[in-house]
Amino acid sequence: MPGARVHDLITVSTLAAFDILYMAKVHPASLAPLCCFSGAYLFAGLACAGDLDTNSREYRRWGPLRFIWWPYRVLVPHRSWVSHGLIAGGIIRALYLGAMFFLLSWVGVWLWNRCGMHVDPASVTQLEAHSLGQIMRAHTQESLAFLAGFVLAGTTHSLADIVSTGLKRWL
Ligand SMILES: [Zn+2]
Repeated sequence: MPGARVHDLITVSTLAAFDILYMAKVHPASLAPLCCFSGAYLFAGLACAGDLDTNSREYRRWGPLRFIWWPYRVLVPHRSWVSHGLIAGGIIRALYLGAMFFLLSWVGVWLWNRCGMHVDPASVTQLEAHSLGQIMRAHTQESLAFLAGFVLAGTTHSLADIVSTGLKRWL
């Protein structure tokens, strides 16, 4: 499979190609969905792609927050369909990251309560989920563009792995 630097280069160059294609084909080109797509694609390609299932550069880019991905790294076999599935891989990571966000916010409120505050962690989590739902309903195009960018970055990563492995076997 390609090294981390090659994966980064593929992410940046394919994003440029997608953006140029979008600007050329969509009239009038709406910038908000394009920005959401591009931001998610870059974020997922550089820090949330398939190689989070190992001690990769993507994993280390999370710095002190890499504990978020530790269960994923331990539980998901390297290059399995869970991490490297063309569509499933990205969807599973998006769901995992969302679940970790809610779990960490719940733990944060729980710790806050241990310091003498009185806030119900479950009600905070429900409020966050409700707010997220409202934002997604109000900005459907942008939300779909964000999810598409996030998932497609994983697809590009997996395709690069498949092509690279095929070329190595063929040569
Ligand atoms: Zn990979």
